[in-house]
Amino acid sequence: MLPPDSHVHSEWSWDAPGGSMDGTCRRALELGLPSVAFTEHVDLTPWTLSPDEQLPEEWDALLSGGVLTPPPLDLDGYRECLARCRERYPDLRILSGVELSEPHWHRARATGLLAAGDFERVLASVHSAPAAAGGGFAEVTDRYADQPPVEVVRAYLAETAALIEKFDSFEVLAHIDYPVRHWPTGGQPYDPYDFEEEHRHVLRRLAAAGKVLEVNTRVPLHAEVVGWWREEGGRAITFASDAHDPGALARGFRDAVHLAEAAGFRPGRDPHGFWSPGLW
Ligand SMILES: [Zn+2]
Ligand SMILES: [Zn+2]
Repeated sequence: MLPPDSHVHSEWSWDAPGGSMDGTCRRALELGLPSVAFTEHVDLTPWTLSPDEQLPEEWDALLSGGVLTPPPLDLDGYRECLARCRERYPDLRILSGVELSEPHWHRARATGLLAAGDFERVLASVHSAPAAAGGGFAEVTDRYADQPPVEVVRAYLAETAALIEKFDSFEVLAHIDYPVRHWPTGGQPYDPYDFEEEHRHVLRRLAAAGKVLEVNTRVPLHAEVVGWWREEGGRAITFASDAHDPGALARGFRDAVHLAEAAGFRPGRDPHGFWSPGLW
């Protein structure tokens, strides 16, 4: 059996026009997944766009003066849809959830939403970085246009460490390898060993805070990172397709399961639970 997909977006995430909670539930049953968590985007940082950046037309309403402000989560609509799906698909465990972007920069809004939402799965993530010039913030991977790639990744991991230090109201750290998705081609290939100390620093803090590391499959997570997680005291992992449409649900999970097993992680007795280091 495949593990639960603990990080999925539906039509309730502003950047998922192809999302469908209903369709994702049906797909989960087809695949035999034990459970799925709908962790919708709560992107609290507005992004200053570069002048030549092209965005889909449907985001025009979110743009003003070259700044894109992601809309808030429609909590009522999301919860009604979740309730309908739970009723329609009783054989699937459906978790409510949220993916908080840079919650340590927006503590009041983040904690207010968590109190209102009572979510079962809270992910924290970093998607933003200070913009190159003129103040404001940019989507992290936009920084490859004007910053050496090594510095983009170092800054990302430093910000992730800061998040863990400054914000505690989350359970799982999402996509520690987010910048790798857009690592520039044509130059030096990405090598996790170039950032081993920075990774270990993040993982040590994450373990000390009692949090969970996500194995996100949008790009295969390097096995070294999962090995370092164990060595730094990490006790639990989740699997995450980060799907934005039903077809991407649990994508890459078989390879991710092999990787996790090779690093010594095993499912527990509860098929809905986290994976932990097996007994040796
Ligand atoms: Zn994310
Ligand atoms: Zn996501």
